[in-house]
Amino acid sequence: MVFLWPNFNLMAQNQENPQRYTITAALPYTNGPIHIGHLAGVYVPADIYARFLRLTGKDVLFVGGSDEHGVAISMKAKKEGVSPKEIIDKYHGIIKKSFQDFGITFDNYSRTSAEIHHKTASDFFKKLYEQGDFIEETTAQLYDEEANQFLADRFVVGTCPKCGHEEAYGDQCENCGSSLNATDLINPKSTITGSIPTTKETKHWFLPLDRYEGFLRKYILEDHKNDWKPNVYGQCKSWIDGGLEPRAVTRDLDWGIPVPVEGAEGKVLYVWFDAPIGYISSTKEWAEREGKDWEPYWKDEGTKLVHFIGKDNIVFHCIIFPSILKAHGDFIVADNVPANEFLNLEGNKLSTSKNWAVWLHEYLEEFPDMQDVLRYTLTANAPETKDNDFTWKDFQARNNNELVAIFGNFINRVAVLTHKYYDGAVPEPSDFTQVDTETLAALRKFPETISSSIEHYRFREASQELMNLARLGNKYLADEEPWKVIKEDEERVKTIMFVALQIATGLAILSEPFLPFTSGKLKNILNIASARRSLSAGKLSDGNAVTSATLSHRWESVTKNEVLLPSGHQLNKAELLFRKVEDEEIQKQLDKLEATKKSNENENKTLMPQKDTITFDDFTKLDMRIGTIVEAEKMAKTKKLMVLKVDTGLDTRTIVSGIAESFSAEEIIGKKVTVLVNLAPRALRGVDSEGMILMTENTEGKLVFMNPDENGVGNGEGIN
Ligand SMILES: [Zn+2]
Repeated sequence: MVFLWPNFNLMAQNQENPQRYTITAALPYTNGPIHIGHLAGVYVPADIYARFLRLTGKDVLFVGGSDEHGVAISMKAKKEGVSPKEIIDKYHGIIKKSFQDFGITFDNYSRTSAEIHHKTASDFFKKLYEQGDFIEETTAQLYDEEANQFLADRFVVGTCPKCGHEEAYGDQCENCGSSLNATDLINPKSTITGSIPTTKETKHWFLPLDRYEGFLRKYILEDHKNDWKPNVYGQCKSWIDGGLEPRAVTRDLDWGIPVPVEGAEGKVLYVWFDAPIGYISSTKEWAEREGKDWEPYWKDEGTKLVHFIGKDNIVFHCIIFPSILKAHGDFIVADNVPANEFLNLEGNKLSTSKNWAVWLHEYLEEFPDMQDVLRYTLTANAPETKDNDFTWKDFQARNNNELVAIFGNFINRVAVLTHKYYDGAVPEPSDFTQVDTETLAALRKFPETISSSIEHYRFREASQELMNLARLGNKYLADEEPWKVIKEDEERVKTIMFVALQIATGLAILSEPFLPFTSGKLKNILNIASARRSLSAGKLSDGNAVTSATLSHRWESVTKNEVLLPSGHQLNKAELLFRKVEDEEIQKQLDKLEATKKSNENENKTLMPQKDTITFDDFTKLDMRIGTIVEAEKMAKTKKLMVLKVDTGLDTRTIVSGIAESFSAEEIIGKKVTVLVNLAPRALRGVDSEGMILMTENTEGKLVFMNPDENGVGNGEGIN
């Protein structure tokens, strides 16, 4: 006997069948263009989710915008000698265009410098201020006397008190992920002038997060124990269990939204207070333009709110923003925050400052009209549960072995054969064989399988299910071989092609969230209508809109409709959906990255200028020999010095060398080295040093021995 228990979890959330969806995607920071890491982590999954829900007929609002406040923008402007406005205008434009180019279907894409946002965020602060939700506190903050400015966030670097990382910022350590206050840093240094900061008193407002502990425990640890991703849930739990502390919501800075309180001149809202409110401002902007009411999308319990972000934003979206919304009192909080881990590029961390990235606008210059290939590769290899690596070889393999060889090959055969045998009209089928029936039954199951993956935010699994549908079609044609059967049984081929055309139509519908441009092209080939605004940024490849189309399908049509493409329906002419990516194209990208690596290395090095010219006689005065380190011991009470015994071939002598910070004694005993043997002896800390070991420095500042790269060079061999 089976007992059916009501699902209390879903009942509590009232989100089993929401009336509407509000989907947000992290506001990209306008201090640079966006790269594949942003796309993979946030925007492609958010767009797949939004497109999928629209296709299933849901009321969906998908909002985003540029995050244009904060210290990094202020810093970049100072460095480049321009106004912050110039920086944000430039990158807002580039970012917005990248989103359009890649078919990210925001219903509204705003910016936090917009007036509507300044007012919304300012009103938010005022309401909380008037309700007494903030703590006012005068504290000592780091101050740069040279720049005449308080130092917080990215304006100060120092050693992380939690993990010892030496380049932690004043707000966060990128090594261990800890959130920090600038005054926590050990050995802080101003990033503006490089000087060591003093401290100075200043007044700020804090959100006492500790007051929301009970709320957060219930909201996250109880109500979302089962439906949030383990990485997100785990991070929240460790935050809450670690003890929540009051968090500053204001900053001493000249760029941002002025704190709307008397006596707060020269202070702005902390960017992390104002940025998430940007989702609400963006919704208001949309509602104004469309003549809609924004409030249900943020205040009605029947709305399902989902934030798409990267893992570096978890604390802000799961702890701080919900606490702000809760404090305000009128707002719903997120039903889910499906944060992704990080994407790396060819084994290294993506970095804007090191130019270690594939920039979206550059990608499109080199792979025009191939947005879907990147969308697909990033989804199929999405960093959903752990950090993942983007490699150009994988990109090529996904394209050539899956999109071209399976998806594209199937569609091309279907279209070409339909034109060849029936002048492009869908044939009338005769009797279905068992294989036909089973194949059509399998097709009908795909919407549910893919839906289930998407609803659980498992987009890479969903993308592989979609590819499985293409595999089903490809295998069906390969097994049934209409190109052979046509010689003996024309009636049978009509049935085969009819079945194949149904699968092709299923692919056109179900691929839309993942491969919107391809889906548009395929719908054009099949002469069926694109779903509502499914291709806002994409043009059909022949520049024409679908004209004579009469058929329009939704997601569930694939399951419900007996026939997706009826007999007699006329197809448009065939075109190729994908093209092969050649080895040379991949090599070009790899060369480009290699060049970036080299140029980064050179930039880190300040090369010594060449010294004065010497004569050959000067050179021959230097007696350099190969030797072997036979003993090594760190000199007591010194940091750098090591006392070495070196077999020079001539003798075994003592040399004091400043290498103790780079090497341990054990790792250098037995090492072949080059020694300047005729250097006049000198006493270092009471020990006579008779010669010098030749060294150089690598890009990370580590010392490297100058030693022969060939074995069998004996001690005492001279260098000339
Ligand atoms: Zn750290």
